[in-house]
Amino acid sequence: MSEVVTYEVVDGVAWVRLNRPEYRNAQNSAMTYALDAAFTRAVDDAEVKVIVLAGNGDHFSAGHDIGTPGRDVDVEFERKAVMWWTHVDREGADLRFARESEVYLGMCRRWREIPKPVIAMVHGACIAGGLMLAWSCDFIVASEDAFFSDPVVRMGIPGVEYFAHPWVTNPRAAKELLFTGDRFGAVRAHELGMVNHVVPREELEDFVSAMAQRIAAMPQFGLALTKRAVNQAEDLMGMRSGMDSVFGLHHVAHAHNAEVSTDSLGGLDAKSMAAQNKAAADGS
Ligand code: ZN
Repeated sequence: MSEVVTYEVVDGVAWVRLNRPEYRNAQNSAMTYALDAAFTRAVDDAEVKVIVLAGNGDHFSAGHDIGTPGRDVDVEFERKAVMWWTHVDREGADLRFARESEVYLGMCRRWREIPKPVIAMVHGACIAGGLMLAWSCDFIVASEDAFFSDPVVRMGIPGVEYFAHPWVTNPRAAKELLFTGDRFGAVRAHELGMVNHVVPREELEDFVSAMAQRIAAMPQFGLALTKRAVNQAEDLMGMRSGMDSVFGLHHVAHAHNAEVSTDSLGGLDAKSMAAQNKAAADGS
């Protein structure tokens, strides 16, 4: 089996790449824990000044794995960020709350706090759980072909677990993107302030690389303190406590789905979700 995350250090920049291109980099737990290991490695390596998160293949990430053969929701991985008990062998809301507290919300929060600058380099699809990865980074550089969406309201769920939508766009844009589930492109994301730069696809890597080098020239401890300062400001704007409260609503939705439909995702998997997204897009 090939590595689900690749890691390479070039001139003080750690390039961490999602590597399930055959599944548009759908994020299973193996990938989540591999990402966590890659970030830990980059944090502990004093030679690494800046981290870039990118995706191999045609897309950044199609989101959480809800339907590939490598879906591994029942597997227990070595757990580093213990905030709850393992979900394995639990049931119902107990299982889901435990799993998502760590694998989704907890991990993304950990990565947001990484004391080194992290740039998301986004091309192609960046959907739902893909947004969580990109949003955990300090900022996003996207290519012109990048597109974004959080269509999980189709499952009756109020957005992905790392509920940053109102903070990384604005409350009204967040409502629109959630209420419609529509895709929006890199230019729109840039207008909303969610993306810092939009560049042609063929220039994306050079652009990010050059920017990483400029940042790498700054004092490392100064960068870490600055990152902490801005993150604290963002939390004072309510992001952290907002996410905590929405996580409860998110789990009410999962529980409701489990109670009234076939499963906690309202009976939707990757295929039926894609079909619904396509039908909605064709109808507009
Ligand atoms: Zn969830």
